[in-house]
Amino acid sequence: MALCAVVIASGDELVRGERLDTNGAFLARDLFRVGFTLVRAVLVGDALEPFAEEIRRALGEADLVCLSGGLGPTDDDLTREAVAAALGVVLRESPAAAALVRRSLETRGRPYTPLQARQALLPDGCALLPNPTGTAPGFWCRRGRALLVALPGVPGELEAMWRLPVARLLARECPERAAPAWKILRCFGLGESEVQRRVAAVCPAARPGEIGICAEAWVVAVYLAGWCAARARDVRAALEPNVFGEDDDTLATVLVRALVRRGSTCAVAESLTGGGLGSALTAVPGASGAFRGGTIAYAEAEKEALGVAPEILAVHGAVSAAAAEALAAAARRRHGAELGLATSGYAGPGGGAGGDPVGTVYVAAATAAGCRVRRVWVAGGRETVRQVAVNHALALGLEALEEGFRLEAGKNAPAAGT
Ligand code: AMP
Ligand code: MG
Repeated sequence: MALCAVVIASGDELVRGERLDTNGAFLARDLFRVGFTLVRAVLVGDALEPFAEEIRRALGEADLVCLSGGLGPTDDDLTREAVAAALGVVLRESPAAAALVRRSLETRGRPYTPLQARQALLPDGCALLPNPTGTAPGFWCRRGRALLVALPGVPGELEAMWRLPVARLLARECPERAAPAWKILRCFGLGESEVQRRVAAVCPAARPGEIGICAEAWVVAVYLAGWCAARARDVRAALEPNVFGEDDDTLATVLVRALVRRGSTCAVAESLTGGGLGSALTAVPGASGAFRGGTIAYAEAEKEALGVAPEILAVHGAVSAAAAEALAAAARRRHGAELGLATSGYAGPGGGAGGDPVGTVYVAAATAAGCRVRRVWVAGGRETVRQVAVNHALALGLEALEEGFRLEAGKNAPAAGT
């Protein structure tokens, strides 16, 4: 049985769009995986009464209410007060919470001030949830059929609290959950509608919600649930050779893993992506086992300084197959790596020349065996073009390493902008 959950993320910065609600996304993903159906996710500002009203409403409709944020020591941190108002109880100092706050401040060399002491207040009847990585403790309580958990806003703290104390709490308090069967397949180089056609052919009896297809920067994720999850192997076969990973894999994690497995190394030379490729690779834990380094060769002089022959730039231009190939080879040489990846293109809004309009991207992957270059045209704004260029370079790198993986599918390549 799937239980119902509501997520309430609080903070004026969320409501005003200054900050993205990544906690809500994290909780939504994990709630599904551990057997909850998220029925509502809301943002509330730092105002007491509307916040309390949202909590009251959620307690009346859900089995689990997750609150994010507002547990800090400052005046705009109102979660304790809002929960107390919603439950109709007072705040009390919790000696256990005070001890935890004191200890975590001590380890950071910070004093326990009256402001910090606010963090030791809990709504009466609520129990402490320790914060393994921060100072603000969380708390939980049961109200009728609803379990309420209040989690800190700092994403790393929320995730750490969710993974340990909350996971234990849910195992104890909500044992009747059944985690759903699910599988995510990730592919590159196929358009959404082509993916849809192939998945539907393998899963003709899919029920609503059992297939989800979602494209971003040319990566198409296929979410399979229930009966369709059990058919994941056949779905994967239908999407080969464009499937690069499953579940939480990204192109960068899969490429780093492939390099580490071979004891191989890579380096990058980036023009329009301006470090995005290196950033994606170094974001992968363990990247140091494979990533040597990179150069942002943005200006033509920098491309020449890296070792691109001036004639290539003069004859073909900086945005060309020849320049991308020379950049990839230069990355290998300069950084002593076995795989060199390069990007060059017109991210827009200015630029674009001859037959290469804005959105034209060249990526190259060079190894000792030779160099692969691809030209693609990407519809969309500057950020989309740059993100697709990063993904394309990663995919081409994977193709250079993994004989089985092919990102090019001829007539099935993504439609512009998908
Ligand atoms: P708070 O616990 O509300 O004081 O927030 C602490 C920090 O976490 C602030 O930098 C917030 O911007 C950030 N934060 C709060 N809520 C969220 C959220 N839902 N998603 C991402 N970051 C958040
Ligand atoms: Mg806040």
